[in-house]
Amino acid sequence: MDKRIETICVQGGYTPGNGEPRQIPIIQSTTFKYDTSDDMAKLFDLEASGYFYTRLQNPTNDYVAKKIVQLEGGTAGMLTSSGQAANFYAVFNIANAGDHVISTSAIYGGTYNLFNVTMRKMGVDFTFISADSTEEEIDAAFKPNTKAIFGETIANPALKMFDIELFARVAHKHGVPLIIDNTFATPINCRPIEWGADIVTHSTTKYLDGHGAAVGGAIVDGGKFDWMAHADKFSGLCTPDDSYHGITYATKFGKEGAFITKCTAQLMRDFGSIQSPQNAFILNLGLESLHVRVARHCENGLAVAKYLQSDPRIAWVKYPGLEGDADYALAQKYCPSGTCGVVSFGVKGGRAKAEEFMKGLKVVAIETHVADARSCCLHPASSTHRQLTDEELYDAGVSPDLVRLSCGLENANDLIDDIKQALDGAHIQA
Ligand SMILES: *Cc1c(COP(=O)(O)O)cnc(C)c1O
Repeated sequence: MDKRIETICVQGGYTPGNGEPRQIPIIQSTTFKYDTSDDMAKLFDLEASGYFYTRLQNPTNDYVAKKIVQLEGGTAGMLTSSGQAANFYAVFNIANAGDHVISTSAIYGGTYNLFNVTMRKMGVDFTFISADSTEEEIDAAFKPNTKAIFGETIANPALKMFDIELFARVAHKHGVPLIIDNTFATPINCRPIEWGADIVTHSTTKYLDGHGAAVGGAIVDGGKFDWMAHADKFSGLCTPDDSYHGITYATKFGKEGAFITKCTAQLMRDFGSIQSPQNAFILNLGLESLHVRVARHCENGLAVAKYLQSDPRIAWVKYPGLEGDADYALAQKYCPSGTCGVVSFGVKGGRAKAEEFMKGLKVVAIETHVADARSCCLHPASSTHRQLTDEELYDAGVSPDLVRLSCGLENANDLIDDIKQALDGAHIQA
């Protein structure tokens, strides 16, 4: 029986047998024991499934990955050591040197650097386009060697909504998958696979953990993309892998399992960005209350956004759940029960006043973080996005005066009072 999302948050991924631990066991072991070399050889050949070395796979991680797969409505998934590793693996699993990927420019600064600097050095080419692109504009970004489109459901920190259905349709028209980073929306508010996305990634460091306790990432495959129908583009999935005795992932593991099996067998084997089982356990504690927390984060985010909109000392507010916001219609479509707890805004007086205002906050802390139970704020232009030129900043939807405020689980009125006193203290004029 298909369970509702709240029940999956609490119980998904792991069902103990008679007399087994109620909570997910932490398998704190690098390695696993076998009776014969032959047993182990089958694992190495991907002829049998099982564990042999935690650099590739660990049972604790797999319980938690399975829960996230159920939450996203996918067919297979894996945990990674960070959100950065998840996005790198998701893209590099299908785009190698000489290939090209289309991404929206309004994405997380770390992902932008990964694509625009580091993956370019590895020979992967990127074209960045606006999340507001029309079908014709997306079409125009395609090249013969394009292997995927990438976007964020709700961009961090620009809070731009991504039109999943549109981008999925165009991606599929050109025979490539759509990869979506669903970190900000979480599967509670949006399930991109239901709208046509093929691969979903997460920085689990954010809402999924939600307590600022464990860095991590996840990749989920929707299991619908037909790799073999585009075998010329995806040779890594559709031709024999010499490092695994010539198996072909797409035929051996099908649409449902090929992507994650290849990603584990090749990328996790070779790069080893595995999540520690301890972190996976902590992540699961966060997942158990995800549905309860996300609703409160959104409630607080909306209350704070409404207050900011009403205070004349605030230059502008960006919150897709706010009526009148440029992305309100998309937010209503893709995230009808709420968007996220993060609100972006500018204070009058620009960059200097923004910094003075932030220093005056007492309940909200200055941190390079979002989506934590404790409210925090950040000035991206001088921190996460400081590598970007002014032009790149504007393309990423980050103006120099942008303050990113992540509303936690405190009382919304305490957050609003804190903002008011900090605006007073910084003598910000209406
Ligand atoms: C934080 C974040 C990342 C990177 O995740 P880490 O866990 O910090 O490596 C990627 N995408 C989005 C949308 C993020 O917010």
